[in-house]
Amino acid sequence: MPDAPQSSRVPVGVDPNRASIARVYDAALGGKDNYEIDREVLNKVATAAPEVRDLAVDNRAFLIRACRFLAAQTGIGQFLDCGSGLPTAENVHQVVQRLNPEARVVYVDNDPVVLAHGRALLEENEYTHFVSADIFDPREVLESPVVRKHLDLSEPIAFLQLGTLHHYEGPRGDVAQIMKAFIDELAPGSYVAISHFLDPENEYSEVAQNMEEHFRHSPMGSGTFRTLSEIEELFDGLELIEPGVTLCARWWPDGPQLKELNQAQQCIAGGIGFKR
Ligand code: SAM
Repeated sequence: MPDAPQSSRVPVGVDPNRASIARVYDAALGGKDNYEIDREVLNKVATAAPEVRDLAVDNRAFLIRACRFLAAQTGIGQFLDCGSGLPTAENVHQVVQRLNPEARVVYVDNDPVVLAHGRALLEENEYTHFVSADIFDPREVLESPVVRKHLDLSEPIAFLQLGTLHHYEGPRGDVAQIMKAFIDELAPGSYVAISHFLDPENEYSEVAQNMEEHFRHSPMGSGTFRTLSEIEELFDGLELIEPGVTLCARWWPDGPQLKELNQAQQCIAGGIGFKR
């Protein structure tokens, strides 16, 4: 995407003078769909944690492993992905449809660039759909005609809130209420995957707090780091699948970990819960 804010090249509804969560994340993953202002946010956060891009990479790697697990091990064939982000190398539908070609995926996002690219690139087959909705509004998401048409909510689903809930900017306690409202509506047998910025309450806590400060006071304007127990509260009413909520890098890694985790990798956690 070009940096220059030339109005004729900027999609409707996109403000190149404001950073967007999806574009900052795309920049962190090494994508091309971002503006200078998005990269500036990352550079600012990098003054607190030079390896900040690894936080995004670990989050995305967790998404891929979590989706692979859900598609391979649970028998679930319908996925609701809240906050899809911009299309990247391995998107949810590609990961799960490789294992189950008829797995249905509905992506939800509200970023105009994500919507434009998502419709073009993510809706690539009859089992994959995209809807614009507020992922912090359970009713809007679950009552969306697209969700209702393509997912059967009376049957178990995999519900994904990956790298999203830390961007909620309302009162701190509301996020648990939002998750509870979603979880209450899921059929028994459903799975919920969450990844979230972590304040590890150890020697890396200060780095987490500094990253939060930079994210929240940047042109992106959001990024709350929660403690492990605060993240566990988001799974209220669910049974956590082993190993529970842990660093994304440590959640069923692809192989032995020979390298020490850097400070940014210590600040992103994830887990999967099961609704009995
Ligand atoms: N889930 C992907 C992942 O983990 O790789 C992408 C995460 S990205 C950091 C967060 C996404 O959530 C962005 O695409 C952003 O546009 C979307 N998002 C943030 N707030 C939202 C809201 N209120 N409604 C819908 N989407 C939202």
